[in-house]
Amino acid sequence: DQFSIQKSLENLGINATNLGSSTGVDFFATGEVIKSQSPTDGQEIASITTSSEADYNKVIEKAEKAFLEFRMIPAPKRGEIVRQFGEKLRHYKDDLGKLVSYEMGKSLQEGLGEVQEMIDICDFAVGLSRQLHGFTMHSERPGHRMYEQYHPLGIVGVISAFNFPVAVWSWNVTLAWIAGNVCIWKPSEKTPLCAIACQNIIAEVIKENNLPEGISNLLVADHVIGDKMVNDKKVALISFTGSTRVGREVNKNVAARFGKSILELGGNNAIIISDKADLDMSIIGAVFGAVGTAGQRCTSTRRLIIHEDVYDAVKDRLVKAYGQLKIGNPLDQHNHVGPLIDKHAVNQYLESIEKCKAEGGNFVVEGGVLEGADYESGCYVKPCIAEVQNSYKIVQHETFAPILYLIKYKTLEEAIALQNDVPQGLSSAIMTQSLRESELFLSQAGSDCGIANVNIGTSGAEIGGAFGGEKETGGGRESGSDAWKYYMRRQTNTINYSTGLPLAQGIKFDL
Ligand code: NAD
Repeated sequence: DQFSIQKSLENLGINATNLGSSTGVDFFATGEVIKSQSPTDGQEIASITTSSEADYNKVIEKAEKAFLEFRMIPAPKRGEIVRQFGEKLRHYKDDLGKLVSYEMGKSLQEGLGEVQEMIDICDFAVGLSRQLHGFTMHSERPGHRMYEQYHPLGIVGVISAFNFPVAVWSWNVTLAWIAGNVCIWKPSEKTPLCAIACQNIIAEVIKENNLPEGISNLLVADHVIGDKMVNDKKVALISFTGSTRVGREVNKNVAARFGKSILELGGNNAIIISDKADLDMSIIGAVFGAVGTAGQRCTSTRRLIIHEDVYDAVKDRLVKAYGQLKIGNPLDQHNHVGPLIDKHAVNQYLESIEKCKAEGGNFVVEGGVLEGADYESGCYVKPCIAEVQNSYKIVQHETFAPILYLIKYKTLEEAIALQNDVPQGLSSAIMTQSLRESELFLSQAGSDCGIANVNIGTSGAEIGGAFGGEKETGGGRESGSDAWKYYMRRQTNTINYSTGLPLAQGIKFDL
């Protein structure tokens, strides 16, 4: 209820009338005022003063100064800062999870799950802070030693999307910090309060450890500031999470200045349901993947590629399952599906349904916008299912909404070809109990995606693996495995401890 939301906002240091000055951290916000509106009930939550271009310049200056100090702190000590951040997140988990759910519209369970992911990546980063190791190699020259080491980059810019308003930031900053970088975050202007809450939490840690505030900077601002950051050579790395449309520009502009980028863009994820699949498991995986977060995950299941022998059975069971879905306020744990982020997203959903019908799509579960009591925000839509051809233009495109496409196949080779025949390459899955099928799907002749699962749906990655995708998904990798290397620069060092100066490749140069 409103009372408990207000309480959580207060606990997170968010004073709805005076944002930006509620903690010791200076937000450098003198730009225009925007409003945060909840898609759950249409209520205005707060007004926020955004950051202007002048504020941007001040933030860069502050970050540059902080970097000079922060890079000299040993990595395990930086890990200790991240450990304390993880402790704070445990303390604020309920409040922050609730705010994520209320401001973004995902279910409370998923909001809490996002904060859990933040805690997990903190733990991961703490351990990593003692393991930022390079190789040593044997030099071809006598009395020489050769090795490589990793150094911080400087300023890391994080530009994030609305659908993971807190977790994506944490995947980036925790690794960037233990690597010795300072960060500037430009969150989605659709979820500014989640960002302010995160900044308030890290500000406590910074203050308690007497560290420079410029380690973590927040710019609540629109795409103009985002673009400025992308084009600024003072920002060594841009980690961009968002649409392929914007990512394409970001990619071009960062490359033009020889900056580094991590691109985490759109997906068009499919599950292959084989005739050898456990159908109970397949239905749960497919429905959660398609309607979870109201289809607004980059890894949401958008296509089901189903073997012809089980096609009708799967279709019937999906229709039945969709009939049981409860759509409504995501803070009410009885509901399965919450709202879309805003009315613009609702219009895109409606347009996609029309386009799909125009191309010949046959809707077996109809879509539509919900109206009446509890749906006043105008953002609640019905998850729908259409039988399509993979080649339809609309099927090739990522619509960020709960529209699920069904496609029929005969052979696994054909299914894999269909799965790969889209411009995006983020997540993929096969449901099968056959070893031969699953191994072919995972082989070099199988899925072309950054994520390929067996008997799991397409969404819900763990932080321990590297996360990201191929083709128009951008090629970036974040989070686990060796993704930390993106946040550091590599240096090869050769040291001569002999009394001569032998040249490499046996070159003779006598004076
Ligand atoms: P979006 O591209 O509209 O916005 C993302 C961010 O980019 C926002 O902060 C926005 O202000 C900023 N931005 C917009 N124009 C910019 C510009 N010219 N220069 C710099 N920054 C600019 O995306 P969205 O609607 O917030 O998020 C949904 C999209 O994000 C989907 O396509 C989804 O698949 C993708 N996504 C991908 C991943 C992943 O890890 N692959 C994760 C989450 C979301």
